[in-house]
Amino acid sequence: MRMHQKYRMRTPSTGREIIIEAEPDRIYLDRDTGEELEIVAEVLPLAPTPSELPWMIDNLRFCDWCDQLAQKDLNDCPWCGRRMQPLQH
Ligand SMILES: [Zn+2]
Repeated sequence: MRMHQKYRMRTPSTGREIIIEAEPDRIYLDRDTGEELEIVAEVLPLAPTPSELPWMIDNLRFCDWCDQLAQKDLNDCPWCGRRMQPLQH
């Protein structure tokens, strides 16, 4: 399964920006003007939600308290609310 990265895309003539899930090797056209959209930036998941974050095993770890899978970058377990051990590097 491949997750699509979200991009901010801009229409050159109008400066209108949209955010779409895109593949970097594809060309996207503005629906109104037919222009090729230029990539402004990749959109980082600033407010991650379970549906946004790729729930791959690399991003998960087991909570020390309740043994549920939680995202690695969280400090508190989303299931039991307790503070998890700092990551071992
Ligand atoms: Zn927990």
